[in-house]
Amino acid sequence: MDCVYCGSAAEEHDPVYVAEGAVDADPMAFCNFACLTAYVDERGLADGAACNWSPE
Ligand SMILES: [Zn+2]
Repeated sequence: MDCVYCGSAAEEHDPVYVAEGAVDADPMAFCNFACLTAYVDERGLADGAACNWSPE
């Protein structure tokens, strides 16, 4: 599965999978937490959503 953020093959790194929305929604793949956090920062998804998850 390609990294949502940078488009690289996530399996070649340290993949992180995130399911957003419905339980049966396709998960999003990221190379690692760096790509995940960069994606979240760019999208502003962390704004007002601090109770949902933490990159730590
Ligand atoms: Zn990536």
